[in-house]
Amino acid sequence: MKIFCIGRNYADHAKELNNPIPKSPLIFMKPTTALLIKNRHFFYPELSKDIHYEGEVVLKIGKNGRHVQPEFALSYINGIGFGLDFTARDLQQRCKENGHPWEIAKGFDHSAPISEFLSFEGIDPDNINIVTKLNGNIVQDGNTKDLIFSFQDIIVYLSQYFTLQQGDYIYTGTPAGVGPITVGDRLEGYINGQKLLKCEIM
Ligand code: ZN
Repeated sequence: MKIFCIGRNYADHAKELNNPIPKSPLIFMKPTTALLIKNRHFFYPELSKDIHYEGEVVLKIGKNGRHVQPEFALSYINGIGFGLDFTARDLQQRCKENGHPWEIAKGFDHSAPISEFLSFEGIDPDNINIVTKLNGNIVQDGNTKDLIFSFQDIIVYLSQYFTLQQGDYIYTGTPAGVGPITVGDRLEGYINGQKLLKCEIM
């Protein structure tokens, strides 16, 4: 099982971090030890002083495929869920300055809380509302209609480089409104108005 992530896939978020709009999907991965499931608590690790939440629509891959053609791309999705892409912004900044990969900033243990999955059947991939709440307040309110690279684009692109396997996850990018977490915070994730994820920071 692999966890793919797409960076800077909403223009408003790329802008808020002063990043250019990418011309092709920006891909990184998290190891399986990053997974945090069943709404388990997140214990703030020593490795960072500036961990941010990024709420994202996560796709679950339902079958194996490589070099997937655009017209078949959506048939590889068998569920959508809500995921947090926890990011150690201080480490990421240092990696960027040194031209280093992001893994330590993005792939540390439990940096990938993921919810249960909803069926993808009947869902319009280009009109999914995604909301992140922090301590009950809406901090991110996005829609997949604003994605720079659609689910279809992402699957076609990824499958040119990696064989997609049943059970793989794809984080599709975060809308604007990311911010830091502190011990005692409560994060919640909603897809199309349905609460799917809860994560308390300990
Ligand atoms: Zn992200």
